[in-house]
Amino acid sequence: MLRIIPLGGLGEVGKNMTVYEAAGETIVVDAGLAFPRDEHLGVDLVLPDFGYLEGKRVRAVVLTHGHEDHVGALPYLLREVDVDQVVATRLTLGLIKSKLDEHGLGQKAELVEAGPGDEPLVIGPFRIELIRVAHSIPDSVALVIETGAGRVLHTGDWKLDHTPVDGLRTDVGKLAEIGNRGVDLLLGDSTNAERPGSTGSERLVGEAFRTLFPLRTGRILVASFASNIHRMQQAADVAIECGRKVTVVGRSMRKNLNIARNLGYVEIPEDAIVRPDEAMELPPDRMLALCTGSQGEPMSALTRIAYGDHPSLGVEPGDTVIISAKPVPGNELRVHDSINQLARAGAEVLHEEIAPVHVSGHACQEELRTMLSLLRPRYAMPIHGEYRMLAAHAKLAREAGVPEDRVLLADNGSVVELSRGGARIVDRIESGVTFVDGLRVGDVQDVALRDRRKLADDGVLIVVTTLASSNGNEIAPPELIARGFAESAARGAARRGGPRRSPARHGPVHRDQAPPGAHPRCDRADRLRPHEAPADGAPGRDRGLS
Ligand SMILES: [Zn+2]
Ligand SMILES: [Zn+2]
Repeated sequence: MLRIIPLGGLGEVGKNMTVYEAAGETIVVDAGLAFPRDEHLGVDLVLPDFGYLEGKRVRAVVLTHGHEDHVGALPYLLREVDVDQVVATRLTLGLIKSKLDEHGLGQKAELVEAGPGDEPLVIGPFRIELIRVAHSIPDSVALVIETGAGRVLHTGDWKLDHTPVDGLRTDVGKLAEIGNRGVDLLLGDSTNAERPGSTGSERLVGEAFRTLFPLRTGRILVASFASNIHRMQQAADVAIECGRKVTVVGRSMRKNLNIARNLGYVEIPEDAIVRPDEAMELPPDRMLALCTGSQGEPMSALTRIAYGDHPSLGVEPGDTVIISAKPVPGNELRVHDSINQLARAGAEVLHEEIAPVHVSGHACQEELRTMLSLLRPRYAMPIHGEYRMLAAHAKLAREAGVPEDRVLLADNGSVVELSRGGARIVDRIESGVTFVDGLRVGDVQDVALRDRRKLADDGVLIVVTTLASSNGNEIAPPELIARGFAESAARGAARRGGPRRSPARHGPVHRDQAPPGAHPRCDRADRLRPHEAPADGAPGRDRGLS
């Protein structure tokens, strides 16, 4: 009997994490984070709820690739749950190693490098094989997870790129072979299941750069996800051919590029790279800046450049800014602000709506059909996507011949059981979200967040009254402090709720009076503190999501 429990990534884009249990042993596939949404006022990161794993020993966390929605929660997981090993490919391991070191968790679990083509890993009752897939970050893999209960294929994020930048294609031959061996259950990436056709090759973006760059006489700035290493490679290659030097702006991008260069995933000659201040000294047609900020993140390099607030880089008429990414849902307005501001500064801004400067990293319908026909799974369970994407993927599975009752539309917290008799959803466990605010970890019902919402909606009115300790009488006129009110409204409130005798004034002053039903763990709010963002690349602000 194999139990599969998604703790995140279903019904949402982000925080992918799936628990696999067999014979009393547990492994976890991916441990990702999500972007906070507008209602998560002041929250920096959103993590899966690890409550289900508390007190359990996890034999291994196996990572499919290095995007933040798959690895970003790992440091927080390692802090709360005992994990023996973290298994990943070379680049993924390089990226998480630096992340764990930053969190002081370098020794918390054994890091094990694995790759496609290696002998299958045997971890307790699990036999795990890695299969190469193409995606928007190098070294991505799908997983074949076998137990006595059957064979599961967990795709991770993937697309069929026939001309990937590193030449490493999705291993279609291997997938066909696994399909011939027989796949009992497919857990498949659903991100683009609503989109017809096929996703373009990453190389198309390089071709767009090759068309665009030689015609530009000003500075060129390319903003992308800090994890999109092949995008940076392609931009740098074309720029160098055009006689430009390359500068890298934004903490996360510099960090990722260094790791990727050290491990041999990116090749940019040392003499082609200059510091940002040196780049600004060069003639405009001699420089390319690779920068963070493709999501309009407030403290990111591109946003600061757009607002004339960056210490070394700026734009002026004649410059070109290429936003080589698609806004993650929820970030559109910020990206539009950024584009407007850059245009105001005189730059020409090219983005995916007007130029072919971005391709997705996920399979569209035709590719999903190909995967389904290569594997011919007995059961299919769409993962990685909002509900409508899961539903679209379910439809494709049915069209590919998976019977209606064998397509499992699960949620975060669903418990799926696979045995020789088949797969079905048998139960559900509590699965919520965990917020990270500054460096502290809290939960969804935090009074701090509720108070922030109230403050944002209503404003705050503070009444200061001074009472004598002897008899509780007022010994000074009350003082009113209003924020977020028109002055007249504040005065009205003062008249209505002003100095009147009320029983409460004799009692102790409650700092926070939670309403009935407030979450029992709301005391955690005390540990929250206001968001403190570092100057650039705040943790999770520029994230290679998806
Ligand atoms: Zn993803
Ligand atoms: Zn991804």
